[in-house]
Amino acid sequence: MTAERLDAFMARANAAYYASRDPYADFTTAPEISQAFGELLGLWAAVAWQAMGAPDPVILAEAGPGRGTLMEDALRAIGQTVPGLRAALRLHLVETSPLLRALQAGRLPGAVWHDRIDDLPDGPLLLLANEFLDALPVRQFVRRGAGWTERHVAGGAFVELAATAPDLDAAEGEVVELGEAARAVAGALGARLAAQGGAALFVDYGPERRAPGDSLQALRGRAPADPLAAAGEADLTAHVDFAAVAAAGRAGGAAAQGPVPQGIFLARLGLGPRINALARGQSPARAAALMAGARRLTEPHAMGRLFKALALCHPDLPPLPGFAA
Ligand code: SAH
Repeated sequence: MTAERLDAFMARANAAYYASRDPYADFTTAPEISQAFGELLGLWAAVAWQAMGAPDPVILAEAGPGRGTLMEDALRAIGQTVPGLRAALRLHLVETSPLLRALQAGRLPGAVWHDRIDDLPDGPLLLLANEFLDALPVRQFVRRGAGWTERHVAGGAFVELAATAPDLDAAEGEVVELGEAARAVAGALGARLAAQGGAALFVDYGPERRAPGDSLQALRGRAPADPLAAAGEADLTAHVDFAAVAAAGRAGGAAAQGPVPQGIFLARLGLGPRINALARGQSPARAAALMAGARRLTEPHAMGRLFKALALCHPDLPPLPGFAA
């Protein structure tokens, strides 16, 4: 059996996974927990658009739109509060799964689909992405003696093959992850934003400062599963290295804002007042459910701290909502 490098395995497994099933049987995400999440991200994009000088037309894009919930909520909020942007925007979605494209088409009429962020048409860009970077493949190196090995997958298990040393530091036996695909996305996007204008908002999970460790995980039926067991049967993710993504975006020419923990970011965008407004006049049970959703998104032990928001944008843009204290 030939050994497959971990990033190739992860890319193949996730492509098969997302192409073959509705992933929401296995996990849930912020836009599915509260409609306010997509609404607030939509209004974030509207403020960025105004700071850009309100270009018309402007590309509003989402990477990895899942069921289309985030964008549906964002478009509704934009239409109600910034109709000028609603009229100016051209909706583009970056999605590789035909199954999810079909779900998105039912909710987001008029959208145009692409396989890669690099395929988006030229022009000023507003990009939103929630839990997109975590699905991109990572490489893993293991410190062995004076050198390194790289993890490959064969027969459902890791095998280590000799590797050239990455520019990293770790103790004997420690695993160091390299999110090359996320860095490549950020580098290309940074160059594009610097040249053509715009702002991109990534919300994802990972620590502030990357430490050695294996963060590869698989979710199946909402429970942890063996990431290597059955390629395509479980959702594979890894922690996002925000410092590396920000550095890659800057190297491309963009400015980076954040990362800011999701709980703080959403509070600054006005999650509290929005939830109160939604709860007004609702049944006690509905109001309690709205509050519970907001707590799940913001409380530190839930999604409030591990999840973070990071923006890449044209260097001339001012601090965007949620990133200035
Ligand atoms: N943003 C959504 C979905 C998160 S799941 C939400 O918050 O609910 C990850 C999404 O990214 C799915 O839509 C998946 O099909 C898509 N995706 C995963 N890898 C991708 C890739 N390499 N290129 C494009 N889309 C990808």
